[in-house]
Amino acid sequence: MHLKSLELSGFKSFAKKATLNFTSSITGIVGPNGSGKSNTAEAFRFVLGEQSIKSLRGKRGEDMIWNGGGEGSSNSGRANRASAKLTFDNSSRMFASIDFDEVTIERIVHRDNTNEYLLNGTGVRLKDIIELLATAHVGATGHHIISQGEADRILSASIRERREMIEDALGLKIYQWKKLESIRKLERTEENMKQVESLRREIAPHLRFLKKQVEKVEKAEEMRRELISIYKIYFAQEEYYITTEKTRLHSEIAGPKKELSDLEHALNKAREILTASKNKDVTSDELISLEKKLAETRTETDTVVRELGRIEGEINANKRAKEKEESRMKQEEFKTVYLKDVEEVISRAELFQTVKEVIDAFRNFIKGHRSANDSQFVAEMEKEIVRLSAEKSNFEHKRMTLGDFEKKIVSEYNALKQKIEHEKDTNRDAEKEVFRIIARQNEVRHIVGTLTADIQKIDFAEAEFKRELGEAGMIVGREATQYDAVVNASNRSEQAEKKHQIDKLKIRLEDMGAGGGAEIMKEYKETEERDAFLARELVDLEKAKDELNKLIAELDVRIDIEFKQGILKINKEFTNYFSLMFGGGHAELTVVKEAKRRKKGDSEELGDMLEGGIDANLQMDANDANESQDGPEGLEVNVSLPRKKVKGLMMLSGGERALTSIALLFAISQVNPPPFIILDETDAALDEANSKKYGDMIENLSKHSQLILITHNRETMSRAGVLYGVTMGADGASKLLSIQFEEAVKVAK
Ligand code: ATP
Repeated sequence: MHLKSLELSGFKSFAKKATLNFTSSITGIVGPNGSGKSNTAEAFRFVLGEQSIKSLRGKRGEDMIWNGGGEGSSNSGRANRASAKLTFDNSSRMFASIDFDEVTIERIVHRDNTNEYLLNGTGVRLKDIIELLATAHVGATGHHIISQGEADRILSASIRERREMIEDALGLKIYQWKKLESIRKLERTEENMKQVESLRREIAPHLRFLKKQVEKVEKAEEMRRELISIYKIYFAQEEYYITTEKTRLHSEIAGPKKELSDLEHALNKAREILTASKNKDVTSDELISLEKKLAETRTETDTVVRELGRIEGEINANKRAKEKEESRMKQEEFKTVYLKDVEEVISRAELFQTVKEVIDAFRNFIKGHRSANDSQFVAEMEKEIVRLSAEKSNFEHKRMTLGDFEKKIVSEYNALKQKIEHEKDTNRDAEKEVFRIIARQNEVRHIVGTLTADIQKIDFAEAEFKRELGEAGMIVGREATQYDAVVNASNRSEQAEKKHQIDKLKIRLEDMGAGGGAEIMKEYKETEERDAFLARELVDLEKAKDELNKLIAELDVRIDIEFKQGILKINKEFTNYFSLMFGGGHAELTVVKEAKRRKKGDSEELGDMLEGGIDANLQMDANDANESQDGPEGLEVNVSLPRKKVKGLMMLSGGERALTSIALLFAISQVNPPPFIILDETDAALDEANSKKYGDMIENLSKHSQLILITHNRETMSRAGVLYGVTMGADGASKLLSIQFEEAVKVAK
């Protein structure tokens, strides 16, 4: 028991909410004509996603909505929406994908013809409903919902349509949808592949261009690396060379320089000596002056000696005179004066006034008469001797002084003379020295000049080295300037060769134009990645395409096998039911190939069929898919009645047609029982005997499928476990009520 209930609200004649509970495996719905019974069957179709409003006896979705009832009833009685809600018992997980014991599917149509689908109360797409139903073998073609007057639909359908119905009944639709989906995916995949391929084609020239650029950049980078490595060795060697050369030259030049300065000094000295010798006249003058001074001193000494001799003589004379006087004086004590002289003094004394004058006069007299060599004279002599002695000692002192002075001058003179002699020697040496120094200076200057030139060369090399370092830093980056110290010096020609290489590389690098390397690399990398991504995508798409093709092929095989096996099984049941109904005879479905080129009529028929389908797109795809095979297959119904020679459906009576149709429907349902089957007055054309057989078959079917039977047939009613009566009041609204068999019989009438 899968079906639990159907709830109608505003659907067609069911103005008010009405619920059918399917508590029995056979539910009968009875009621007078036009009471709304078929509306319930249509409600099933509706809720299961029927897209053909025509098949629901309407023109638009709006026609499904309770439109008010009775003559002159106002619009206000109308409903705004029609809904039908089907409740399934999912405790056996007939809907495997839904993990609830109950599944409700509800469809609502609004006045604006929009539809809503709810799965357990949640809005979903129609597609979801269809797929869900397909998994539970509740087909979209509605093979299990036989509307009123449609009992022989399966017989009147085209062979293709019939095939569709059978496929649906056999539960192959799910595979077909899968196949269709795969085909659609395949198309999308192929479209994507085309797009990816065109994208790759688009970027290919750019990628090629970038690749060339990148190769250039890489080549430049390679050269840069090479330049760096040469630079490193070159710089290390160069630095080593410059430093050692500088040290060597500076130490080498130090000696000669010192020598030059020493020579200069010596030269100056020698020149000084020579200059000094030019002043030798001064020395001679000095000598002459000394000679003159000596002569003067000597003359003076002679004078002093003469004077001394004179003084000594004088002293001696005086001494003799004095001695003489002294001896004479010893005689004079008795000297005689002339009286007259005395008288004269006396005469003069008479004239004197004072004694003193007299005394003096006498004194003078005596004095005058004393001899010249008198004592006074002696005294004078002594005095003179003393004076002369003093004078003599003076002169002696003078003579001594002069002697010392002379000695001094002599020694000075001698010294000077000696000096002059010595100077003469020195000058000669100095001259020689000057010549020697100048000669040596020339030699040393030459050496210093050479070394200085070498130093200048090294200084120049150093400047060049620094300039090259700076340039290297700019051209190839700092790395080139970070070199190791040198262990073994290389020779200059090797260095020159390296420099040559460096210059060549620099020029080549410059020619390549180093700019934009990083950007190009980045763009190339990005483009390459994009291309690789597209290539991968293409591979993935190819893989997906293969997988889809494989899946489609697998599905084709599966559909084909299951279809053929299903047909075999159906035929077995079909002929059984057929012979049961007709008391013999034979019936079967046969697979036929439809002509490849279809007539226009067929295609119109196909259009109709599509309109009645679930999803026009899906159907269209299905046609294409079928066409892609070698001619779509259809199903023909072949019957042969017992005791009758005629064969073929065309020859059947209305009742026979209904019976055949029922036999086929039951056979299909028997082979692959749907959860429920709705039969709307399928039994209408049956006579009493066949009604009974029909009733038996129904009971048999109800073992596998839940049956909802709309019927006026008493026999059929009697087989139902639950009966619902549908009535319609004056308001035009259908009403539902659960009734007993007897009531049902009454209601049906
Ligand atoms: P019979 O036994 O003759 O087959 P029935 O019981 O199957 O009859 P239905 O065909 O189900 O009757 O009901 C048809 C009735 O439903 C009609 O009276 C029709 O007017 C009514 N009906 C259909 N659509 C609507 C609607 N949208 N609004 C109101 N009534 C509607």
